[in-house]
Amino acid sequence: AKNAGKGQWRRYDPSLHTAMVRRLELRAALDEAVAAGALTLEYQPIVDLRSGLTAGFEALVRWEHPERGRLLPDNFIEVAEESGLIVPMGTWVLRQALAEAAAWQRATRDAPYVSINVSVHQFRSPGFVAGVRRAVADAGVPPDRLLLEITESLLLRDDDQIWDDLVELRRAGIRVAIDDFGTGYSSLSYLRHVPLDALKIDRLFTSTIASSGQQAVLVDGIIRLAQTLGLQVIAEGIERPSERDMLARFGCRYGQGFLFSPPLSAEQALEWLTATPA
Ligand code: C2E
Ligand code: CA
Ligand code: CA
Ligand code: CA
Repeated sequence: AKNAGKGQWRRYDPSLHTAMVRRLELRAALDEAVAAGALTLEYQPIVDLRSGLTAGFEALVRWEHPERGRLLPDNFIEVAEESGLIVPMGTWVLRQALAEAAAWQRATRDAPYVSINVSVHQFRSPGFVAGVRRAVADAGVPPDRLLLEITESLLLRDDDQIWDDLVELRRAGIRVAIDDFGTGYSSLSYLRHVPLDALKIDRLFTSTIASSGQQAVLVDGIIRLAQTLGLQVIAEGIERPSERDMLARFGCRYGQGFLFSPPLSAEQALEWLTATPA
């Protein structure tokens, strides 16, 4: 800067400009992608740690970008949130995932559930709960075969409507999980009051329990508390047998991670199911 101090001068920063243009371009392209069907879903198995059977699949969105190839959500979810595109995108994800769950119903007995990520913006958009209920009915999938993953930041909002929506979803038989548990600001005790079915332990914890006694004690405590509250526990990011074994010993029933399988295409997921029935 030329004149730091009172009435600061700022030098024009071309890199900032470039970043902004890139964001705008990304947003326009994402808008097109949602409309043109350039999004796809992958499905990562959620495994019962005791039996090894597949309990569910988490649907994870990908964007087949014409120039940049397959993009992972970290590259576009934020832009989708800011622009509001996350709402039509989320509707597409919901309907697509439920269509796949219907295919699993046809292929196996005791078909697995599908788990989808719901952003705060999407959850709070008008008509969200009614839309979810309609999508479940249209797909002909039993409501308990859908698990919605919400984040702590949603629950930290002081908003009665969110609470009512959670209650209504669960009354309709749809299940709700808190995702990335432990990464936000929530205290364990508030969980007691929240209408929830499951808790997902973030990969950050999973990846450190084998090497840190302190982390292990913490995760053990989280699992015990969840059990006391009647919540299912799903650990994410399990990469090593030692992590799986410790989590199972602590009483964690379900897990997902590269140890079992990376996210699979819809076709692969169906193969996975028929090879290892739920
Ligand atoms: P998440 O909900 O925490 O999803 C788990 C992420 O961890 C996925 O990344 C998955 O591919 C990755 N993962 C799974 N197992 C392992 C493992 O063993 N080791 C490691 N290192 N990683 C593992 P992905 O697919 O890139 O998704 C990133 C995030 O994007 C998700 O994090 C979720 O928050 C968000 N996301 C994905 N799909 C959607 C969607 O349809 N809607 C919304 N709103 N968000 C989504
Ligand atoms: Ca998730
Ligand atoms: Ca997660
Ligand atoms: Ca995570």
